[in-house]
Amino acid sequence: MLQGFDPKKIQGGLTGFLRQEFRELEILDDITRLCYLGELPPSVSAVTRTALIRSYQLWKGTEHVPKTVHPSIEWSKHDPMNLVDKSEDASWQLVGKKSNKAAQPLDRSSDNPRKHKLAVMLNQETGYICAKGTKPLNTLSDDRGKARLIKKRKLDDVPQSSQSGPAGLTWEETTLSCAYDSILTILHHIFVDNRERWDESFSRLNDFFSIMTQGWDNSEQCSLEEVRNRIRLPLSQGDPESFPYDNKQGTDIYALVREVFSGSGCESTVQEICEMCETVCSESSVTYPFWHLDGNSAGTVSKEFQKSLNGQLTRRCVYCRTKLVKSTRFSNDSPPVVILSLLNANLKITQKIVVQSSTEDVKSSYRLRGVVYHGSYHFTARIIDSNNCVWYHDGMTTGKDCVYEGKWKDIGDIGSVNDRRATLLIYVPN
Ligand SMILES: [Zn+2]
Repeated sequence: MLQGFDPKKIQGGLTGFLRQEFRELEILDDITRLCYLGELPPSVSAVTRTALIRSYQLWKGTEHVPKTVHPSIEWSKHDPMNLVDKSEDASWQLVGKKSNKAAQPLDRSSDNPRKHKLAVMLNQETGYICAKGTKPLNTLSDDRGKARLIKKRKLDDVPQSSQSGPAGLTWEETTLSCAYDSILTILHHIFVDNRERWDESFSRLNDFFSIMTQGWDNSEQCSLEEVRNRIRLPLSQGDPESFPYDNKQGTDIYALVREVFSGSGCESTVQEICEMCETVCSESSVTYPFWHLDGNSAGTVSKEFQKSLNGQLTRRCVYCRTKLVKSTRFSNDSPPVVILSLLNANLKITQKIVVQSSTEDVKSSYRLRGVVYHGSYHFTARIIDSNNCVWYHDGMTTGKDCVYEGKWKDIGDIGSVNDRRATLLIYVPN
């Protein structure tokens, strides 16, 4: 005891593994805190510890350090905490009637959140049988499991159309690609989801859609980012101000929509008519299916869209002072896609909208398939697939993947996600 000893024995710093362990515990602490405050987005959810930490990192970014982390284990650009590896869960089996069957190993993509949900629900619905010598808990390991237990879900609530979620585009930091990433992730899912309809309505819309169709076709084996750049380059050469190709300025997403969706199949003509003296007071045409929903009235997107197509105006006829009526006519029966910009945050986003041409008596029903969000100089997206499953994409954090959030009816606020507000709504025919 009298002798001095090597201070390194107690001050020598942590081994890499131990430091990682402490850092992961800090993240788990922060997840618990946010969960308690109800500030955790649905994307931060998993059954295993590693997958949960990974989902938090995907949400916050790997550079994010919770406030309470002690400086000695803080991470930074120079001493980074990398994205934790995808966990490879041990194989599992349901104990019970079917126990004679061999254990069914989860496949390699086992951090897929849907798989976990499926596993949780199987346990719930078949009656979970715990290991010998242990007492069963009445709730699942995470707090939100309680909610899951209360809200009985059916197996068909789980997306089954494809094994993994929609593919996403990875953000390019050097050229700020997020506007393209969001729109193309949504369009790519529309392409994959119904190839027949795509070929019919989209593949010949214009040169941009030809590039997408060619690039996304199996035969070409082109990455989604390569296809994006093929679209970006001509746009930026034609109009470098709206479509800059550097890390200084962002893209004008409205200009992007007008360019990318412009085509004779999307043309519409608006007339302002006086019904009293049957005068056409003004007429204008656009070649893109894009409408701004502004004002500040509270109502639904569906009704507001109807008004922007056809309805009474406040302007009056110069001859008889009767209020003018606006009427929209489409070159085709109806456009292959409808894009709405949501300038009025009071509007309730509806899953369906109807397009009615003033000349035809035909109504076409459209379904919401994608939402682009904007905030803090960045665009992100949600994809709604044909099974009403909602997926979140952020090229900066989720990259090539989309994160499963839940069914449409279970999404609390479709108008915002992670502090960003919905700015574009993309609808396609039913
Ligand atoms: Zn008149």
